[in-house]
Amino acid sequence: MPPEVDLLRVLRQNWGYSSFRPLQERIVHSLLDGRDACVVMPTGGGKSLCYQLPALVLGKTAVVISPLIALMHDQTAQLEQMGVPAAVLNSSLTAAEQSRIVQKARAGEYRLLYLSPERLAREDTVGWLRGVPVSFFAIDEAHCISEWGHEFRPDYRQLSRLRTQFPDAPIAAFTASATRRVRHDILQQLQLRQADKYIASFHRTNLTYVVKECVAGEQMDVLLQALRRHADGSIIIYAPTIDRVGNTVDFLEERGIAAVAYHGKMEAATRKINQERWMSDEVRVLVGTIAFGLGINKATVRSVIHLSLPKSLEQYYQEAGRAGRDGKPAECLLLWQRRDTALLAYFINKMTDAAEQQRSWQRYHEILDFAESRRCRHRQICLHFGETPKWKSCGACDVCSGLPGWISGAVETARPARKTTVRTDSSSFQAGDLSPRDHIDPELREYLKEWRRNKAKQQGMPAYVVMHDTSLDEICRVRPRSLAELLNVTGFGDRKAELYGRQIIEALAQFRRGARVRPVPEKMSRAAEETIRLVSEGRSLEEIATIRGRHLASVIALVADLIEQGRLDFQASWVGDERRSGIEAACARVGLEQLRPIKDALPPEITFNDIRLVVAQLRRKQGILLQSGFHESVGTADGAKS
Ligand code: ADP
Ligand code: ZN
Repeated sequence: MPPEVDLLRVLRQNWGYSSFRPLQERIVHSLLDGRDACVVMPTGGGKSLCYQLPALVLGKTAVVISPLIALMHDQTAQLEQMGVPAAVLNSSLTAAEQSRIVQKARAGEYRLLYLSPERLAREDTVGWLRGVPVSFFAIDEAHCISEWGHEFRPDYRQLSRLRTQFPDAPIAAFTASATRRVRHDILQQLQLRQADKYIASFHRTNLTYVVKECVAGEQMDVLLQALRRHADGSIIIYAPTIDRVGNTVDFLEERGIAAVAYHGKMEAATRKINQERWMSDEVRVLVGTIAFGLGINKATVRSVIHLSLPKSLEQYYQEAGRAGRDGKPAECLLLWQRRDTALLAYFINKMTDAAEQQRSWQRYHEILDFAESRRCRHRQICLHFGETPKWKSCGACDVCSGLPGWISGAVETARPARKTTVRTDSSSFQAGDLSPRDHIDPELREYLKEWRRNKAKQQGMPAYVVMHDTSLDEICRVRPRSLAELLNVTGFGDRKAELYGRQIIEALAQFRRGARVRPVPEKMSRAAEETIRLVSEGRSLEEIATIRGRHLASVIALVADLIEQGRLDFQASWVGDERRSGIEAACARVGLEQLRPIKDALPPEITFNDIRLVVAQLRRKQGILLQSGFHESVGTADGAKS
């Protein structure tokens, strides 16, 4: 490396970051010195910078191998925004575009060239690639090369030919997920030569792990509570099967929580739309199978919730690790049930490769042990990845700190507590940390997000390529008035400031002059809209259940919520007069908070369905009374003053 290069300066000017993260600088030095490297760094640790920065400084072309097409596209888009020439070669491009890229690559015009492993394996690729001035190869998701990893990809095996095909080019392997065994495999398969090895800590201190074994019927209540606690930020829910994805989205929509689905069997266009709605914060909750998340670079995920046991601890760590990539507190909930083990065992038993089957059983026992044991979760994870923490207790898991109060609360109530109750309740667990960012005007945040959404749409790229949430929040806090001030904001290098600087400063000025985003009326879920329509057409609840293909109980749960919110009126035909007055009398005695005591106070033929509907109407009335009572007392106080 030319000694005069000031790496920090390169970092500031191009990435807009003020300092390196742990290990980044040393890894960059290894690559600049032309050494092989093997880097294990958790998701969000900042791996891409480790090869992008040397690629820029070395001036030739770094070839990046990644299995994730979407990620490659996003990275090249981000690099382009920084003014770093980069391209991705894949089969979605026309033949003419592909040959143009090959031509430019051979002329050394790109600092980074992204290829999929399949593309690299093609006979013709090695031929033209020999004509490219390669600085080094970077292998992303390198654990895919190992059968011991949880994401083995046969295509990756081809990469073991790289060393002989390009004997002079250094190779750097990157992964977020590698046990000792997988690391060993990576070194061997890629034939790395005295590689510099870097292993970052797997201890994600901003994450809180909560593992809870749920009994039948309990899981969805806990899920609801968990969702209602997070007023801000995005949430990922992992479901074990495509059916569960669909059911969970329905379940949430029925309760007025907008959510989108994501799974492998979905039409590609729908999947893309859903992902984008989630990425752009239009919908906060995404329910997906494990097909979701690879290469997703969303920093402000506040919670990752699993509805079943993952196949391995590595997989769990990686999926849960998509929470809190912005470094702020986030929560990982594993809500598993005993019966999950049967599903896992079923798939393992179906395997035909004996060795693979044996590995799967080992993973099965590891994840089950993790879930069942009463040992610190953070510590178990560190140990699994070959780290021995010095501390004994983390203070951020259910074992060290006990199950959070809101979970035990969720389990006891027959019906999830109402929003008003939940807000005060959230103080019991890290609420201070989880509250929205300091000193940020939510209106300004919305305003800038809207600006970013439009900008991203115009250019056909994801919003975070325009700028990350961390940058957006910082802008809200410091409100830069000049380009120089904007350059101090994380994520704004020279080029990005040039691209967007004036527009952002202008947007801030307009906000000061009073411009606001048009308030979007609270989006009604599809289920709610349809139900209200059917009620107004005079359909009975049973008919609505049949038309919508739902259980009567879930239709009633939704109707009850709508009554409480004042969006539907209670209809006398739903519950007979006699029953209704019986239920009202019981409520007068035991209160409206929980359904179970009301049910217990009534003859058995009165169902939960009846009770729900009547209670909803009473709660609505009580809510209105409380409100008017509040106004009255304010009036009196004012009167007393004057
Ligand atoms: P990984 O590939 O390891 O999951 P990324 O390379 O996507 O992680 O980086 C995670 C996030 O951290 C990105 O938003 C990136 O812009 C940010 N980041 C990386 N390095 C730095 C740094 N030195 N300073 C500030 N932010 C950084
Ligand atoms: Zn702990």
